[in-house]
Amino acid sequence: MRQNPIMQFKIQIVVEDEHGRAITEDIFALDKSSDGEGSVGLLLSESKQLLKRLQHVIVTQQADRYTQAHRCCPLCHKKRRIKGRYNIQYRTLFGIVPIPNLRLFHCQCTKRSTKTYSVLNDWLPEHNSPELQYIETKWASLMSYGLTADLLKDVLPINECLNAETVRRHLHKTANRQDESLKEQPRFISGCQYEWANLPKPGKPLTVGIDGGYVRDCKNRKMNFEVIVAKSFSKTEAPKRLGFVQVLDDKPQRRLMKLLRDQGMQENQQITFLSDGADNVRDLQFLMHPESEHILDWFHVTMRLTVLNQFAKGMCHTDPDTGAELLKKLDSAKWYIWHGNAEQGLERLDDCYWLCDDPDLRYDKRRKLIQNLSDMITYIDNNSHLIPNYGEKYRYGETITTAFVESTVNEVVAKRMVKKQQMQWSHQGAHCLLQTRTAVLNGELRDQFEEWYPELSEGTNGGKSDIPVKMAA
Ligand SMILES: [Zn+2]
Repeated sequence: MRQNPIMQFKIQIVVEDEHGRAITEDIFALDKSSDGEGSVGLLLSESKQLLKRLQHVIVTQQADRYTQAHRCCPLCHKKRRIKGRYNIQYRTLFGIVPIPNLRLFHCQCTKRSTKTYSVLNDWLPEHNSPELQYIETKWASLMSYGLTADLLKDVLPINECLNAETVRRHLHKTANRQDESLKEQPRFISGCQYEWANLPKPGKPLTVGIDGGYVRDCKNRKMNFEVIVAKSFSKTEAPKRLGFVQVLDDKPQRRLMKLLRDQGMQENQQITFLSDGADNVRDLQFLMHPESEHILDWFHVTMRLTVLNQFAKGMCHTDPDTGAELLKKLDSAKWYIWHGNAEQGLERLDDCYWLCDDPDLRYDKRRKLIQNLSDMITYIDNNSHLIPNYGEKYRYGETITTAFVESTVNEVVAKRMVKKQQMQWSHQGAHCLLQTRTAVLNGELRDQFEEWYPELSEGTNGGKSDIPVKMAA
């Protein structure tokens, strides 16, 4: 007779208290075929059931012990009377655990302002587990709220009702807490010139790139609002980023100070700010740093020159002579700006403008080109005081651009936020996402959570920080 090919696996949990007393509970059983038909090993759905059940047993056992230990008055040790019983819904990565809680009357031995209290209140002040909040925030900083909910439901026995709105709410809560902790940051560098002079010689200058981007406003579909982003670089540490919504933020200086400190700034260290021009920085430029220099990011200059060059190349097809002359003049303008001669650069750009201001020119994009040239002239004129001798700085190994790979805006401002997308944002919503996203990109979110919830570092992987995430979703 053929043997029954079904094997049964039973999983039990043994709970032992501090006196070595143990209870054993069946938590899971599953049947597996042993004849090659059916699955090999655990299925995801089975692992989810198993984890959920295990979580339930562990949390309720912990809660039960806590309740027993806190049932009596700590002063006179009399048992406190029960006012009522109810369940707490504790949300974790491994499902929602209903935890029985007691509402007790306060003991008569001391005078209190309230009559009753909940036993588990101190133990579980929040009803979402810290790790749940951490994982939700981390992934929702990198992809959409809806996708985050779907992904977590796919791989974990997490609350089946988890949706984009819940994830968004939890991310906002984290971001608000981050902002709250910024209040403890100083706004200015401490000390005075004398103290700075006595500090050890600082390392190479720190570089901070500052840039602005636009996000579609949900209150007015036709409007955009500005976000400011910054990224700091040093020779020794990985880059750090910050971002905020200009009209909403009241702590840009504290933010910048935190960025510089996290980057390892020493009080007497020189800092070079690179930006897309004076307009971009507004509030941040008021940062009083004794050793700061502010220059126009070469990246933004070349970006604009590249666009003008493309027009000139286009013109070469229909009007080769003027096209070639325009290319030559643009090249010359670039050469002067590169060597810090904004005045000569402007003269060359003016030449370009007059060259193209001829209605007889055979070039269908002439008007657009004229507009771009005029914008470029205004741009260089407005920022001429921020144009250094790039060539010389470059030769000395100084940083003249922050956008080595891609612009800071593209990296920090998620693709789902940029104005080309249909998605619209509230000021608050965009600001919150920028806070958590920069923390994730900087590899700091886990540390932040461990600071708020030290118990998070207890796990076997405890103490292991996030690896900075390189991603531009
Ligand atoms: Zn008492």
